[in-house]
Amino acid sequence: MVLEKPQNPLVLKEVEIPEAKDFEVLIKISACGVCRTDLHIVDGELPNPCLPLIPGHQIIGKVEKIGPKVTKFKMGDLVGVPWLAETCHECEFCVTDRENLCDKAVFTGYLRPGGYAEYCTAHEDYTLKLPDPFPNELAPLLCAGLIGYRAFRLIGPAKTIGFYGFGSSAHILIQIAKELGREIYVFTRPGDTKTQEFAKSLGAVWAGGSNELPDVKLDAAILFAPLGELYPQALKAIKKGGKVISAGIHMSDIPSFPYSLLWEERTMSSVANLTRQDGKDFMELVKNIPIKTTVTFYPLEKANDALQSIRDGSLTASAVLIIS
Ligand SMILES: [Zn+2]
Ligand SMILES: [Zn+2]
Repeated sequence: MVLEKPQNPLVLKEVEIPEAKDFEVLIKISACGVCRTDLHIVDGELPNPCLPLIPGHQIIGKVEKIGPKVTKFKMGDLVGVPWLAETCHECEFCVTDRENLCDKAVFTGYLRPGGYAEYCTAHEDYTLKLPDPFPNELAPLLCAGLIGYRAFRLIGPAKTIGFYGFGSSAHILIQIAKELGREIYVFTRPGDTKTQEFAKSLGAVWAGGSNELPDVKLDAAILFAPLGELYPQALKAIKKGGKVISAGIHMSDIPSFPYSLLWEERTMSSVANLTRQDGKDFMELVKNIPIKTTVTFYPLEKANDALQSIRDGSLTASAVLIIS
């Protein structure tokens, strides 16, 4: 499924099977998750995609061929391809273990072809070995899961954690955090008791509206919903020295708030992309946790329908394209 021009539907097309060059593996894709970022690319909200573009950066598949310099994979390995596809190894960020901020980073399904296809190639260093089996419904782990995990990592050893918003990323992270002995407090849209009940069923120790405060002060909070107004709300809910991290790429403007909310070494931060180490550690971690996801499957050729269901908000589950 090819994006020929932003703001146009993807086109179903026959294209050449790509060649695995040097350090690349050729992957026969079984499934690819559909992320909101794909929608931003297709709708022309992210500048300069590499056109014509095959979108998709939550790829599950098997290695079918290896390039001449590949040493880390062999034919038949079950692999995943996430958003981060390449970094420069030279910029100030790359040389200080912050390759997620690389000035010249290349991203899957944006600056190189992605997974809305039967095949793709990926550099072996940025390809993740997946626990085998890794069912197709776990495709959202490759972006929603990883970004949530990076946010989780950045808040450190916090015991009590607030989640603002409870979508795909939060569903995955709560199952991991609970397994690691953390206590999760879920804040939803005020009055959304259905989501609050769902959060409790997945192990939240408390669930309520984003305008409410639990009886205890929290160590940290992660903002999943892209609403700037949640920042001051979350700052009110956390202790001295606590962190509030936003896991979203976009967020509406943050309203002004009294300095007293930030005072006493509370911090606000965001999360960008992921590092290769995040990917490796995350897959190691989920190997032993039976994570459940809520997904709706679409055949590859229905990718436009999947994107539309995200665009108009009619889909509450995560969309996953099934390729073969
Ligand atoms: Zn994504
Ligand atoms: Zn770099």
